[in-house]
Amino acid sequence: MKYSYVSHLECPKCHEHYSVDEVSQLCRCGAPLLVRYDLKAANSAFKKEEVKIRKNSLWRYHELLPVKNEENIVSLDEGMTPLTHLKKLGEQYSLTNLYIKDEGIIPTGSFKTRGASVGVSKAKEIGVKQLAMPTNGNAGAAWALYAAKAGIKATIVMPLDAPNITRKEVAVSGADLYLVNGLISDAGKIVGKLIAEQGIYDASTLKEPYRIEGKKTMGYEILEQFNWQIPDVILYPTGGGVGIIGIYKALLELKVMGWIEADKFPRLVAVQAEGCAPIVRAWQEGKKESVFWENSKTNAFGINVPKALGDFLVLEAINKTNGCAIAISEENISKAQKQVAELEGNFICPEGAATFAAARILREKDWIKEEETVVCLNTGAGIKYPETVETNNVTLLQPDDVIQS
Ligand SMILES: *Cc1c(COP(=O)(O)O)cnc(C)c1O
Ligand SMILES: [Zn+2]
Repeated sequence: MKYSYVSHLECPKCHEHYSVDEVSQLCRCGAPLLVRYDLKAANSAFKKEEVKIRKNSLWRYHELLPVKNEENIVSLDEGMTPLTHLKKLGEQYSLTNLYIKDEGIIPTGSFKTRGASVGVSKAKEIGVKQLAMPTNGNAGAAWALYAAKAGIKATIVMPLDAPNITRKEVAVSGADLYLVNGLISDAGKIVGKLIAEQGIYDASTLKEPYRIEGKKTMGYEILEQFNWQIPDVILYPTGGGVGIIGIYKALLELKVMGWIEADKFPRLVAVQAEGCAPIVRAWQEGKKESVFWENSKTNAFGINVPKALGDFLVLEAINKTNGCAIAISEENISKAQKQVAELEGNFICPEGAATFAAARILREKDWIKEEETVVCLNTGAGIKYPETVETNNVTLLQPDDVIQS
């Protein structure tokens, strides 16, 4: 029995193959590469009933992850986050079966940890000693911490106004941190120059193929937690789109494995902010790729991505599953964030809040039916973004003051 049934890398555009045993970044044609497995062999080697009794970690699916040698795994026990029924919020939205998949309680405080655990482990396996990446904060935080654990040197470049806490996470890990007075796209240009000159591993979103594999485990987990029954709708806050591409990939793999129903898909919804909605615009216009979004701006920092390298894969995932793309205003993001906390006790991040606002709006339009099973992805902890919550309902007291009830 093998630890992993990974076979090769494949370009989704020109179908060129690459090896998983050496460093590969983008395909020669410029497209991101996808990891392929010998799913037939995996299927005869391990059964879904077996998974259930394994450790609560995304590595419980190691046969379908790209690391061949268990010794290379860099893990902080990430994964198997709660999938919880939100009854009170569901009543408010008239959604009887509304669920949160809560990535707020995972090491490093965001689901970027999944990509970092798998991406850094595979980097270690193929002999990477130094990596660099541009980030809106959370990915840099996760990769810096996992790289530290792996003994890999990391260089992280993030916008000056990325959440302050992510700066601290990078700093405490001992990685080299640079702040750029600009957007993630500007950070990307700077990293590009560094890579070209020094031959450092480029860990930018989708420029290394393995981060998707970490993020796809959200898809495996949702299915496992629903006892391999397919939900009707999954809403995902979409920036680079790795998570939604990953969830779609997970569904396709599980179908080949015969673990889930062959002809049903959950409708995948790409949720963006009104201040940065390139995927939504492309989807509305029936385009296969998006156009750079000028002057993007949103408090939901993780989804402030003006042009995603994998946009065509996101649009494919939405279209093939009869999903949709929707943009949410900053006001509706804040409102949803507050509602979820007030009714359910989850302090979710603004990106996650956008998916709840989207669920409410799509229910109002009857795009989602009352009884349908709906999963909102909360991709990070609200406590990572203290600046985004107003605290104007606070009264300052002197030590002898009395509170009138
Ligand atoms: C990065 C990030 C996103 C967007 O993730 P993609 O998979 O790149 O689309 C959403 N939410 C949070 C909190 C993030 O950090
Ligand atoms: Zn190609």
